[in-house]
Amino acid sequence: MENERGTVRSALAGGAGAAPGRARLPRSRRPVGEPVLPGSSSPWILMYHSVAVEKEDPYQLTVSPERFAEQIAWLHRRGRRGVSVRELMRARAHGRDDKLVGLTFDDGYADFARYAVPILQAYGFTATAYVVADLLGQENGWDTEGPRKKLLTVEEVTELASAGWEIGSHGLGHQALPGLPADVLAVQTRESRRLLEEVVGGPVTGFCYPYGAVDAPAAEAVCEAGYDYACAIAHSPLTGRFALPRCYVGDRDGAWRLRAKKGRHRLRDAVTGLKRNRRGRPEPKGGVGSGSERPGGERAMKERRP
Ligand SMILES: [Zn+2]
Repeated sequence: MENERGTVRSALAGGAGAAPGRARLPRSRRPVGEPVLPGSSSPWILMYHSVAVEKEDPYQLTVSPERFAEQIAWLHRRGRRGVSVRELMRARAHGRDDKLVGLTFDDGYADFARYAVPILQAYGFTATAYVVADLLGQENGWDTEGPRKKLLTVEEVTELASAGWEIGSHGLGHQALPGLPADVLAVQTRESRRLLEEVVGGPVTGFCYPYGAVDAPAAEAVCEAGYDYACAIAHSPLTGRFALPRCYVGDRDGAWRLRAKKGRHRLRDAVTGLKRNRRGRPEPKGGVGSGSERPGGERAMKERRP
């Protein structure tokens, strides 16, 4: 039986299709809250955390490898291809994202390389792993109720990026951004990007808000730090390129639940669009909060508090 390290290496040896993105540095200065494309709906992006065998899972972050394989096979049967958000956004810019679905893995758990990568490779899928820049090789200490999970090491992140997997930033230390002073926001976004670009040897263009928590200053900071896009969770007045909504996927999600979640995504998208049209496009510094911060929002139910 291979050890974890060996499994990582063998899983990565075959490559993951797309070459790492090194073509250009992002120069995004789009208004925060701008729709991904004017008048269009948000792309469908799935949010995973850990793929592993876990006895206790108080935050419902873990999907078993068997269930994950079923979910990926379902997408494949439905004619969808799972891709990184980087690839999804590029395809969308050319109107070629019809059959694509974004696959994202928050926190950068080591089990991404061990369990998720081989399954994704079997279908020719790619994905994005959002890693916590200051905690590579450590554990998810922010999850106070446990269980402790190992995070990808510097070497593993380098290998994943070389093999074509998108590596995005999940901040410096898994700290929620709303409410932080401007200088701290700048450090969380810029410094995490700088550190990760050293690790991957190329541009890091994607950001993912810890806890999915975003407000206007946080989204502004991410935009100003030079990222091309950012992932949130819930639909909100900020929904757009710097607050992409995502669909939580858990271990209970079989085919019919995934179908229902896709329908719910479309519905929320339509409601968000209607509200936006009624209100007019939000100002970049309008002080609007995120739906993900509302008590009882999906993030509050599915994930741990800071
Ligand atoms: Zn996280």
